[in-house]
Amino acid sequence: METRAVGGLPEIEAGDDLAELVAAGTDLGDGDVLCVASTVVSKAEGRKADLSSFPPSERAEAIAGRLEAATGEHKDPRFAQAILEESEELLTEAPFVLSVTRFGHVTVNAGIDRSNVPGADLLLLPSDPTASAEGLSAALGVPVVVTDTSGRPFRYGQRGVAIGWAGMPAARDWRGESDRDGRELDVTVQAVVDELAASANLVTGEGGGGTPAAVISGWSFGDHAGDDDLFRRAEDDIVREALRRWEWESER
Ligand code: GDP
Ligand code: MN
Ligand code: MN
Repeated sequence: METRAVGGLPEIEAGDDLAELVAAGTDLGDGDVLCVASTVVSKAEGRKADLSSFPPSERAEAIAGRLEAATGEHKDPRFAQAILEESEELLTEAPFVLSVTRFGHVTVNAGIDRSNVPGADLLLLPSDPTASAEGLSAALGVPVVVTDTSGRPFRYGQRGVAIGWAGMPAARDWRGESDRDGRELDVTVQAVVDELAASANLVTGEGGGGTPAAVISGWSFGDHAGDDDLFRRAEDDIVREALRRWEWESER
């Protein structure tokens, strides 16, 4: 398996045909998977925004106040408003805002970026990354994974995760297969698109590298049962439930 960055991509602007730009920068063949950073998908989809477009509600003012009290740093209530508008639900408000985006991904600040956004204050995540991946996959004829860099609970450090995908299942089901001892596996469902996203993130990097896309070749999903459930449903998520309780306690 090989993961290589797609070179030569320009600064992406609203309305750019990302598929065309990627196709011009690399040869995609059978068995390749294209991973593309949500940053450039968002830029192509016109998701740059200015803070002035988010006049803060009372709730946003309150959140900014809580954040400021918890961190000792000034927080812009308009940023809190942007997070609110991009979120289905806030899981925590301080010391950082953890939320469920409208498409189901749980991440800090609703995934809104303030880096690599020339000419604007903010870059919102694509509003429907699955649809973005479907469009790119249809145009390019290969599976596509839209990635974002995201923190994670329990561990320091960020890594690439898949926030949208098309042309392949998200996960590979190992249940029913055997370990080396003949013991049947009964829980393992491997989050393949996240693992591909993490490998792509290694080559795309995080800063000014200018390499928002990577091609993975020599990897095959094979003939296995697949699964698309990566975003845990609230009723299945004890961590989300624990956070809700913790928020409730800390608000009192
Ligand atoms: P995120 O992980 O999707 O939030 O994106 P990052 O800000 O970490 O950027 C990932 C990679 O894409 C880095 O190598 C950036 O330099 C690069 N990048 C971001 N925006 C652009 C762009 O408009 N054009 C090009 N060529 N590279 C970009
Ligand atoms: Mn990001
Ligand atoms: Mn990144």
